[in-house]
Amino acid sequence: MKISQMRITADRDVCIGAGMCVMTAEEVFDQGDDGIVVVIEVEVPPEHADAAARAVAACPSGALRRVDA
Ligand code: SF4
Repeated sequence: MKISQMRITADRDVCIGAGMCVMTAEEVFDQGDDGIVVVIEVEVPPEHADAAARAVAACPSGALRRVDA
């Protein structure tokens, strides 16, 4: 079975800087000086995929989107 590559995109215009993503998956997300999300690992390695998926689900603004290739 082919393991798909998870990609994460973030709409920085929608992000409200709540920081849930960073608390949930600090290897994948960071916040800029303005508090708005920065995706560190756009192509999420398998070992961080579960945390990244939880972060997408936990984001209160819907700014994060999971795109699996
Ligand atoms: S959880 Fe959502 S709203 Fe909060 S910083 Fe991350 S992307 Fe932005």
